[in-house]
Amino acid sequence: MELALFCTRVTVLIFLLALYSPCKFIQSPVEFGSLNFLQTTTTSSLDFGRILFNSPSVVLRPQSPKDISILLSGLSASSYSKATVAARGAGHSIHGQSQTPDGIVVEMDSLPNNIVIHRKGDGEAGVSYADVSGGTLWVELLRESLKVGLAPRSWTDYLYLSIGGTLSNGGISGQTFKYGPQISNVLQLDVVTGKARPIVKWVRAFYDDFEVFTRDQELLVSKPDMVDYVEGFMVLNEQSLRSSYIAFPAQLDFTLDLSKGSRKVYYCLEFAVHDYQLLESNADQVVEEIKRQLRYIPMLVYSVEVSYFDFLNRVGMEEVSLRRRGLWDVPHPWLNMFVPKSGIARFKDLLLESISAEDFEGPLLIYPILRDKWDSNTSAVLPKASPPKENVLYIVGILRSANPSTCSSQCLRDLLRHNRHIVQVATAAGAGGSPPLIGAKQYLPYYSVQSQWREHFGSKWQRFLARKSQFDPLAVLAPGQSIFQRKYSLSDPTTAHPSQ
Ligand SMILES: Cc1cc2nc3c(=O)[nH]c(=O)nc-3n(C[C@H](O)[C@H](O)[C@H](O)COP(=O)(O)OP(=O)(O)OC[C@H]3O[C@@H](n4cnc5c(N)ncnc54)[C@H](O)[C@@H]3O)c2cc1C
Repeated sequence: MELALFCTRVTVLIFLLALYSPCKFIQSPVEFGSLNFLQTTTTSSLDFGRILFNSPSVVLRPQSPKDISILLSGLSASSYSKATVAARGAGHSIHGQSQTPDGIVVEMDSLPNNIVIHRKGDGEAGVSYADVSGGTLWVELLRESLKVGLAPRSWTDYLYLSIGGTLSNGGISGQTFKYGPQISNVLQLDVVTGKARPIVKWVRAFYDDFEVFTRDQELLVSKPDMVDYVEGFMVLNEQSLRSSYIAFPAQLDFTLDLSKGSRKVYYCLEFAVHDYQLLESNADQVVEEIKRQLRYIPMLVYSVEVSYFDFLNRVGMEEVSLRRRGLWDVPHPWLNMFVPKSGIARFKDLLLESISAEDFEGPLLIYPILRDKWDSNTSAVLPKASPPKENVLYIVGILRSANPSTCSSQCLRDLLRHNRHIVQVATAAGAGGSPPLIGAKQYLPYYSVQSQWREHFGSKWQRFLARKSQFDPLAVLAPGQSIFQRKYSLSDPTTAHPSQ
């Protein structure tokens, strides 16, 4: 049989590992979803050298490359895990190179051994090559390829070594002078990296003009194909300037004029671009293109790159810091409002009249959302659009903390009174049938009087009542919302109505 030698294209599944400092594994098994770990195997702490016997914490015997990907993404996505991972091929290392004390050993021989030989002419490469898994032994590849009259052309002397294992080193033998080492005979590697985590580009840009700020925010929500997240906040004082600075690790090298009495207010627009969604361009390009379209104060723009997990967990990171400083378990006189676009500038003025910018603690969020993303069949209440086709409305979150060391119980009562005042003015109907001045609605509303609830739900009230009597006729559920009083029988007339 004539033996056609192939060497130029061996597609190997291999994974390269970014190693972390050794440390006990597994903070949260949940991160690894469906993976089944073994406590140990007969091979996981063993190699040819019989010199080192490092035991891993657990062993993974992957059934597919996806399993390895899940493992590495899970580890990379968590800022907390410090586990290391070692691939084990055939274990013919001498000094524990495929071991990891207290880490995770991935035994590559569990991967399905599908060897696919492509003959010259039927593959797109124009040469003969083999597709193999990283755990395949060279002897297995030889047997399979000989069946079709082909063979790799660069070898090791001994064949019971894995393809991934020798490609981690070189792979040398008597053919090396002629064809080069095995690593020179690879066409392509599928690489599962230790940097598998998706990245988020997160940008903050500062404004001192509310109109320009909101116009730019609205521009961003009109570009969902480019932008994945839009928020923003009012910068009332030094503390809010540094808002969520732990999650947003940028060095803000400027000082805003926020001195007492200056009454100057700044606005920070935030947006993010997730790189996993982008097919043809990269996140940096998209961010630059967006920035070119914005009109923030020149130079006052900052971007950071964080993991997808850390981005979504940004408030959790702040929580840890606030708890450490004793600022988490304090009273929170929060108020959230949906404000129609037509009323947002007036609402901003109302806020600035009602709150004292210097001692405001906590974030004051303000950002647009789109009405057509809401299902009108739910009981959530949005303000009326004005004009009727206006799709943009705003969410404003006045997420204040009242630290007892600086805000007494009287001070807390004052803050709650201020909130009620804001709600009253912002939700007031227009005089003499004219449109309301602001026309806002509360999000997460808190009312205790029937007339207020009725007004809050507006045209949705009757439907809301009907659903309540259909699904919870005795008003057993959710007493804390203070909408309905408990009934003791269906004929109980006193409790058939909402609370008074
Ligand atoms: C008897 C014997 C004969 C040998 N003859 C030769 C020879 O002729 N020529 C030669 O060049 N070498 C030779 N070697 C050395 C051998 O090539 C290396 O030790 C090789 O690493 C062993 O492969 P393995 O599959 O057993 O790897 P393992 O010991 O399992 O792993 C070796 C390294 O590769 C990594 N690794 C394994 N699989 C993967 C993968 N899929 N993705 C990423 N990393 C992976 C491991 O984490 C580890 O760091 C010989 C060794 C022995 C014991």
